[in-house]
This record gives sequence, C-alpha cells and structure tokens, in this order.
Amino acid sequence: MSDKSKNMKKLSPGEKFTFDCHRELECFNRCCSDVNIFLTPYDVLRMRKTLWISSGEFLKNYTVSVLGDDGLPYVLLRMVNDEKKSCPFLGQEGCSIYENRPWSCRMYPVFPAPDEEQTYLVEEKPSCLGSQADREWTVEEWKENQGVEEYEKMNSLYNKITCNKFFESGGRLDRQKARLLYRACYDLDEFRKFLFAWRFVEAYDLDPDTLRRLELDDEELLLFGYKWVRFNLFNEDVLRIKSGEKYDALRAMRGK
Ligand code: SF4
Ligand code: SF4
Repeated sequence: MSDKSKNMKKLSPGEKFTFDCHRELECFNRCCSDVNIFLTPYDVLRMRKTLWISSGEFLKNYTVSVLGDDGLPYVLLRMVNDEKKSCPFLGQEGCSIYENRPWSCRMYPVFPAPDEEQTYLVEEKPSCLGSQADREWTVEEWKENQGVEEYEKMNSLYNKITCNKFFESGGRLDRQKARLLYRACYDLDEFRKFLFAWRFVEAYDLDPDTLRRLELDDEELLLFGYKWVRFNLFNEDVLRIKSGEKYDALRAMRGK
C-alpha cells in the first residue's frame, strides 16, 4: 500500500499526464495479475454480457464477496489460483473481455482521490512503461477515450446506496438486508425471478412499458434494483406502492 501511494501523483484541474499502453511494450499484460479489482453492479452486468452466462454463474465462478463493517457487500474479481494469480480474462492477446472490461481497468492509471470530489491521482510506477510515453491526456480526454461515461452514470446511481445517509448516521445492514441488496444489484437474474415469478413487481406503481423493459432489459432492471433497495432498505420515497385495497396493508406497513 505504501509503495502504491509513493507512485501516485495528484493532478490539478485540467493538468495533463502522459500515458500510452500497447501490446509492443515489454510490460504488456503484466498489470493484469495479482490485483484487487472491486466490481460495481454495472461492471458485473457488462462482463457477464460478454460471457453469456447467468449472473449467478458469473458471481460464483469469477468473484469473491466480502461484507464491509457497514454490512455492504463488496464484490471482487477472483484471480486464477496459479503462480501469477492472473485475471481469469487475461489471454495471450490481452484482455479477452476488452469491450466490457470493468471501470477500474478502463480508468488505470487514473484513480479518483479519496474524499476529494473531482480530484484525481495518476499512478506512475516504474514497472508500467506506459507512463514513460509522450502521449498526453487530461483526465476528461482519458475517460472519453476509455468509454467510462456509461459506467460513471450507473456507478453514481449505485453511490446513492453506498453513500446513503443511513450509513453516515452509523447504520449497519444486517445479513438479510445485505443479501437483498446483493441480489437486487449484483444477481440480476435472481432479482428478476423474485420480482416476476413471485409477482412482487405487481405491488409497484409502474407503467406497462417499464414492466416490459424490466423483464427483458438488464440495465432497466439494475436501475429499478437501485430504487428498490433505496425504497425498501432505506425507506426513501423513490417508488410507489399501487393504490387499491389489495395493497393497503403494504402501504400502511411503510407508513405511506
Ligand atoms: S478484466 Fe481485462 S483489463 Fe481487467 S485485469 Fe482482467 S484482463 Fe486485465
Ligand atoms: S503499459 Fe502499464 S497498463 Fe499497459 S500493459 Fe504495461 S503495465 Fe499494463
């Protein structure tokens, strides 16, 4: 950890950094082993899209999950159990899921500065020859080049959960709530089953178009999952229970 911070340089707003990563470099692929990569729900959605497997299979085969002190589930990419601890998606030609690689792989060598909004650090470690190149970037140019816009949009909505005032005021999720959050945000196939097979979705005041999209479109489902968590776990007013006698008890239970 200390070594890492030694190689970090803070960028002032608009300041450029130099970087160029390509397969001709001697270090090519070196950085894709023995790394901690935290995955956001949108990372998981995109990665499994490439692999055409269910969310459950992806989470079981390629990730490890840990619970933080606040009860939030943190999902990490599981490295292969070999000498190098390589990323399971690392091939001879580089990243085999490049189009859908996670946010942190896109952002490298740029990191958001902890606790400082809109401030970034750039890593300049000697083993990464990319930082010795002449090609210059601002952070904004780098983000555009790496296609992070959609990731940032989805991640900022997930931040409304992870940075919720529930946690700021010392709240901690119990195991059952942590499981509900994990299913609604990471295990989307199971969340869809829960909503539709058990018809829980019928309790929410949603128009037919949204309902249809929830059945077919993972991104729409993830957006709904974020709201579902905020509504059910943090009591935020971001969804509505249908009116009518059938749902009176449910509304009364929530006091809305
Ligand atoms: S997902 Fe791709 S870019 Fe990221 S560590 Fe694995 S191989 Fe490297
Ligand atoms: S230049 Fe840096 S990021 Fe690119 S392959 Fe080499 S070590 Fe990895």
